[in-house]
Amino acid sequence: MNTCYYCKGDIERARIEHMARARDGYVFVRNLSVERCTQCGEVYLDAAASRQIDAALDDADSAQERLQVPVV
Ligand SMILES: [Zn+2]
Repeated sequence: MNTCYYCKGDIERARIEHMARARDGYVFVRNLSVERCTQCGEVYLDAAASRQIDAALDDADSAQERLQVPVV
């Protein structure tokens, strides 16, 4: 993907911090490699990013840094 689905802006690789939904809150994923629109900031998660999120969720049970964020 080279252009944004929404605004047709340029897409670039970026590393972001992502809040992934977990069973009882959210897990903070650091250095998530994604594609992001340089114009509107829309983030596109590819297969590798999805795997990275899944791995973070798997680790969440033993992680010390799990955030206790109430689910709204
Ligand atoms: Zn865009």
